Amino acid sequence: MEQALQRILQEKFQKDIKDATKEEIYTALLFVTKEKMEGMTPNTGDRKLYYISAEFLIGKLLSNNLINLGLFEETREVLAKYGHDLTEIEEVEPEPSLGNGGLGRLAACFLDSIATLGLSGDGVGLNYHDGLFLQKFADNKQWEDKNPWITDNSWLTRTDCHFEVPFNGFTLTSTMYDIDVPGYKSGCNKLHLFDIDTVDESMIHDGIQFDKSDVRRNLTLFLYPDDSDEAGQLLRIYQQYFMVSNAAQLILKEAQERGVDLYHLHEHVCIQINDTHPTMVIPELIRILTTQKGFNMDTAIDVVRKTCAYTNHTILAEALEKWPIAYLEKVVPQLMPIIRELDARVRRDFHDERVYIIDKMDRVHMAHIDIHYGYAVNGVAALHTEILKESELKPFYDIYPEKFNNKTNGITFRRWLLHCNHELADYLKELIGEEYVEDASQLEKLLAYKDDEKVLQRLREIKKDAKVELKNYLKMTQDVDVDENSVFDIQIKRLHEYKRQQMNALYAIYKYKEIKKGNLPARPITMIFGAKAAPAYTIAKDIIHLILCLQQLVNNDPDVNKYMRIVMVENYNVTKAEKLIPACDISEQISLASKEASGTGNMKFMLNGAVTLGTEDGANVEIHQLVGDDNIYIFGEKSEKVIQLYADSAYNSRAIYESDPQIEELVDFIISKEMIMIGDPVNLGRLYKEIVGKDWFMTLLDVKDYIRTKEQMLADYEDETAWAKKMLVNIAKAGFFSSDRTIAEYNRDIWHL
Ligand SMILES: *Cc1c(COP(=O)(O)O)cnc(C)c1O
Repeated sequence: MEQALQRILQEKFQKDIKDATKEEIYTALLFVTKEKMEGMTPNTGDRKLYYISAEFLIGKLLSNNLINLGLFEETREVLAKYGHDLTEIEEVEPEPSLGNGGLGRLAACFLDSIATLGLSGDGVGLNYHDGLFLQKFADNKQWEDKNPWITDNSWLTRTDCHFEVPFNGFTLTSTMYDIDVPGYKSGCNKLHLFDIDTVDESMIHDGIQFDKSDVRRNLTLFLYPDDSDEAGQLLRIYQQYFMVSNAAQLILKEAQERGVDLYHLHEHVCIQINDTHPTMVIPELIRILTTQKGFNMDTAIDVVRKTCAYTNHTILAEALEKWPIAYLEKVVPQLMPIIRELDARVRRDFHDERVYIIDKMDRVHMAHIDIHYGYAVNGVAALHTEILKESELKPFYDIYPEKFNNKTNGITFRRWLLHCNHELADYLKELIGEEYVEDASQLEKLLAYKDDEKVLQRLREIKKDAKVELKNYLKMTQDVDVDENSVFDIQIKRLHEYKRQQMNALYAIYKYKEIKKGNLPARPITMIFGAKAAPAYTIAKDIIHLILCLQQLVNNDPDVNKYMRIVMVENYNVTKAEKLIPACDISEQISLASKEASGTGNMKFMLNGAVTLGTEDGANVEIHQLVGDDNIYIFGEKSEKVIQLYADSAYNSRAIYESDPQIEELVDFIISKEMIMIGDPVNLGRLYKEIVGKDWFMTLLDVKDYIRTKEQMLADYEDETAWAKKMLVNIAKAGFFSSDRTIAEYNRDIWHL
């Protein structure tokens, strides 16, 4: 490493390591790492997987690549020898924000595990120039700005692979960029990101505004542009078709280069469709096979059906994509005859309009294409898959029970432990050996130390160190002060009503009022939030406004701020997550039961020794089963009850509000004079009305049990030994949530690589 680094620094900057700037060292490390990855053996096999996803939230790559290449320690030592700190060098790297949240982060964890398990499998997606917006706070509100990440020297490698992608009346030529994905002590795969050369970043103005109709200049400008209007929705269809047409052409080209007879494509290729965004790959493959490869329709459908598998990520009806036929006709008219044919076949075989592809309102249900014309359908946690089978997708499950299966999500331990929490990772190695890095089930060996006072003490120290680091980071980045001796209570995830940050805000109001009344807590609490709201999601932005106003109120009140602080972290992303998670005591996973498909944040926290405060939802259910009642705090109504309430339209938030003075007091505080003095009456008033008059995700149903359970948790925290034992059990039982386990299951049951 030292020689390679010296050589590149000389070549590029005519500098010695000790004189080079952080930027120069970062660039040199980027080149050295890319060289090493080029020299790696690619994972190969007779069957190859293509994981198509509109999002890959890969985060910064330098440290992770170094870890997987086995070069991290050496690099850190070489830099230290010349007076540099690798952690500071990492700060130079921009984070590629090519995803919104969990779904995109999952795809990134999967790529790491696929490569680590030595499987032949590449990711396919889009090279958004600005990714997800950069979030800024001003006037206690979220503002969006552009977030460019592509610099002259980046992890992207331009290839000479180009395809022609036909749209209505014009054709775009693509360019494929590659990012290497090295496995941990294993071979290498690729992430292929498609782009066009004519994207024009200068068309962005006033934050993230741009002309949505100018496809030649805007196609890959942003991840998921605001789709609250027709132009935004059309652009999404342009993006999706561009992604899948490139994917289909790449897959067929590589198969033919490997000598695969396309009539046997399914024996050599499988395609995982990550949520419905890549669904058009099915009609696109059928189109190419029938119009360019001499297939008849029956055979093309048969081969494609045996090649494609679909992952469902949500049961929120509004999140299931349904494109109006008129839009598809406008963007990709060549696909509509195929989609109509696929629908006609469904209508011939099944007389149940709930499973038709085209509905009475002339909308195309993308998930229905995937289920009928793919060979596997999976949910992402046990409860989620059961809900799909029993309610949301029941008519399909009745037809194709053999297609449905569960694959509980996972996270890569390389990033979410080895990289983000060196101190804990090293201590675990000391205690139980190195094997847990590649065989996560070995973490259970920790249980042998459950009553070892010295080990428990050390776990507490490691947590404390992480809290001090976070304290310093928050001071440096946002100029806020927090107390490392307080309880760190953290909720970081996309802002969505179903995730119920508003319920956590109601707890903050409760606590504020208690402290004002003189009911002082045994120990101060630091409530940390981090969340971006979709730019057109009004109520989500109102919730951010509420939290920011509470932050101002609480932190500036001398009666209160000794006992309680609120910090809303700006621009929550992977980099911030890596700093926050190791420092967490209480992991907030409080979605309305049945609404969070899995969650993966819950797994990251558990692995780093936080204790979950959660509902019986998503993977929380499996965490609960693994750690047992003593090591998790579960509250709230169960999914069966919630589903019944929806079915009967029986939830009435106003009735709860009017009949419970304590709840009324908390909700009324949103529009109290204290709050109106700080905040915007329009935003606060709208949120108040929403909670009292609608509360679609049933905050008021669970808020009292939530407050009671959180108070219990804070009381239990005071028994240091008992709490450290809970930390230990959570870490020990986190092995199940390694994405290596998830990927081994995908391979065993779906991919057969
Ligand atoms: C893990 C992760 C998520 C997903 O969090 P959930 O709590 O599962 O919703 C979202 N964003 C980032 C940056 C993450 O790292």
